Amino acid sequence: MSRPPLSGSVSSPWGDESGLAHTVLDWASDRAVHPGDPKTTARPASALRREVGTTITPRGIGAQRALSVFAEVLAPATRAQDDPMNLAYIPSAPTRAAVAFDVATSAANIFGGLWEAGAGAIFAENEALGWLISLVRWPPSAAGTFVAGGTMGNLSALHAARSAARYRRQARGLPPRPTGGWILACAESAHPSIRNAAQVLDDLDGVSDVCGEHGAWLHVDGAYGGAALCAGSVRDRFVGIERADSLIVDPHKWLFAPYDCCALLYRDAVQARAAHTQTASYLDVVDREEPNPSDLAIHLSRRVRGLPFWFSLAVHGTDRYREAVECTLTTARDVAAAIRGSPRLSLVRDPDLTVLLFERDGWDAARYRAWSREQALAGTILCLPTTWRGRTVLRLAFVNPQTRAGDVMKVLDAMPD
Ligand SMILES: *Cc1c(COP(=O)(O)O)cnc(C)c1O
Repeated sequence: MSRPPLSGSVSSPWGDESGLAHTVLDWASDRAVHPGDPKTTARPASALRREVGTTITPRGIGAQRALSVFAEVLAPATRAQDDPMNLAYIPSAPTRAAVAFDVATSAANIFGGLWEAGAGAIFAENEALGWLISLVRWPPSAAGTFVAGGTMGNLSALHAARSAARYRRQARGLPPRPTGGWILACAESAHPSIRNAAQVLDDLDGVSDVCGEHGAWLHVDGAYGGAALCAGSVRDRFVGIERADSLIVDPHKWLFAPYDCCALLYRDAVQARAAHTQTASYLDVVDREEPNPSDLAIHLSRRVRGLPFWFSLAVHGTDRYREAVECTLTTARDVAAAIRGSPRLSLVRDPDLTVLLFERDGWDAARYRAWSREQALAGTILCLPTTWRGRTVLRLAFVNPQTRAGDVMKVLDAMPD
């Protein structure tokens, strides 16, 4: 026997919403099986305001109007992240399984902060985290949680690092450090989400040695690159990562999950819990025998955002993930080789993994900008200029296994004189 819809009774202030829910889900199910239109793009708020008018009114504008405004004006005013020719920043190429399951995850509206509320879903998230932990080759003390993005993951890990350092000083009978008395050393190439650049990363193993000597916490920001842990062809780049204390990997970047999904992992979850456990008295009843995601990051209420990643990983299997990541690595290498062999293009930076920089001989910044914009509007390729050592160059980032090197080169070879 099926359950009656939740707000189907006349006593609900919302009336019967089941019809409108179906209308919205029809749109969602159609969108979930089709990739985004590459011609869509952001627009100025003033232009959107003119076209959309007022949407929040005392009496409501109704489902049909609200949905059509979204489907016809607002959604097209966003960039398609999953188009195979979107090679700007770090795009996102979720599997259809993951996108569809994101809809299912939302429909279930699970509270994922505490085990006692979200046990089954958190169990599934932990399965997916367990795969990542196995790739790092960490001991059973490791655990983690999913947070919204790399920025929040990095911040949460740094909070755990500082708290662990405080405990260590306390244990050694040292006075607490003054506020601001902590040192954050990070790679010159660090993402802007970790601003205080201080040192140059050589290799993880060497950095682990230094951290070991100084009792420092080693956090690895693998928001984008961490996905390549599963790829045998580049696994040697990660030697030493097993000695890190914490790590982030964004499945929404290169592990085929939709936004927003960052896996935050600790080698020793006990230290992380000591830093993050919230001690509000109403939480005292919560069963602390089970791992609570809320105890591992700066959050309490959370959606179980790891479920779409888990579902897709469970459906397709880890071998397929490995192949998909290897496939994008091959695409990046093929494009790099073709650029190297091209008479009018120069490779500025070889891809470490799947990001490369190149130049069109003789072009200046204005020329790059104009070309990039033209291609974006035509939906041909999304390839943005960036600066490298004071020069304007073009950048490509590959995370989509459906991107074909041949298609990319067709566009690059057609760059005019
Ligand atoms: C993208 C990125 C971040 C930020 O992650 P978000 O998920 O966008 O918040 C941090 N570090 C690195 C290396 C990144 O590539």
